[in-house]
Amino acid sequence: MTRRPFIAGNWKMYLDRAAIGELARALKDQAETLPGVEVGVFPPYPYISEVIETTQGALSVGGQDIYFEKEGAFTGQVSAAMLKDIGATYALIGHSERRHVFGETSDDTARKVAAALDHGLRPVLCVGELLSEREAGRTNEVVKEQIEVGLKGRTADELADLVVAYEPVWAIGTGVTATTEQAGEAHAAIRAMLTIMYSEDFAQKVRILYGGSVKPGNVDELMAVPEIDGVLVGGASLKAESFTRIVGFGAAR
Ligand code: PEP
Repeated sequence: MTRRPFIAGNWKMYLDRAAIGELARALKDQAETLPGVEVGVFPPYPYISEVIETTQGALSVGGQDIYFEKEGAFTGQVSAAMLKDIGATYALIGHSERRHVFGETSDDTARKVAAALDHGLRPVLCVGELLSEREAGRTNEVVKEQIEVGLKGRTADELADLVVAYEPVWAIGTGVTATTEQAGEAHAAIRAMLTIMYSEDFAQKVRILYGGSVKPGNVDELMAVPEIDGVLVGGASLKAESFTRIVGFGAAR
């Protein structure tokens, strides 16, 4: 089964309009020469439309979060319908900062996955364990709960475009990367969970990204692991110089 590599950048709450325009143009120029790899970016909400216009389909563009209601008196929230309306393709759901800074639960992520699917957005469901959970030998148990609850009630057909991002919390923004063995094991475990929940065929089609301090200096060894279908990059996606190098390694897969 060949899965198209997916290299995605989460720009979090960084950069301004000028820097984002410059970065988007550089990534578009590169992506147009590399059709074998999907390049995705998750800009802060105010800049999403402009990135979609600038990149004209060369990049996949998504939101860093969505709210699960379609509309209503929910000050500060953005719905899946709104993101779809402006031409976004993806929504990150359950990023570790949403779970651990904003207290999002797996039940919240399930409602967000449902909202994304109901409005034609592709969910990127982020999962991953805390350091204490890994040290207690609970990595698979934690990730299993996040996957099972996050996808609860959704069929394989509905989830045809699902992407999962395995991001150990202890590796995000810390400079510490999971070893290829740790990442490979977690990805294989996630694929086994999806096989049990759905089917072997379904599980083989789902792209599972690794995230956590990915840089130009470690992406090649991560992308050499057959179970790793791409990477979700935070800090190193904020500069064209480092992110285009990471995209280049993805394309060389
Ligand atoms: C992320 O925000 O998803 C992430 C992996 O961040 P960083 O690459 O900075 O660790």
